[in-house]
Amino acid sequence: MSQLVYKSKINKIRTFALVLIFAGIGFMYIGLLVKKIEWLMLLFFLIGVLSVLLSTVVYLWIGMLSTKAIPIVCPNCEKPTKMLGRVDACMHCKQPLTLDKDLEGKEFDEKYNQSRYRKKALAEAKKKSK
Ligand SMILES: [Zn+2]
Repeated sequence: MSQLVYKSKINKIRTFALVLIFAGIGFMYIGLLVKKIEWLMLLFFLIGVLSVLLSTVVYLWIGMLSTKAIPIVCPNCEKPTKMLGRVDACMHCKQPLTLDKDLEGKEFDEKYNQSRYRKKALAEAKKKSK
């Protein structure tokens, strides 16, 4: 049975950075295996180094995002967590969280973080108030 699990955004990016590091090491390893073909080895090493560099950048980015994230106490598991954007999930129990009163009780959806959706919602709210 498949279960919908929402991951905290910070955790998601962290996983991505970790995967990049392993991919980078993997590429360099393949580079060692094909060292007889010089240009191929250089190519794999280059991709490997770039992946590791990119993951470093992603890690720095998470650090910056973390300072911007709003620290809250999860209402479900009562552990401190951080959230990014209007909707996010708890880092510990995956409880969907929202900062927006309008979205409270609504189904959790990543689309609420997209500006396109936000503009549409604003336009609809304007129409209703007229
Ligand atoms: Zn929680």
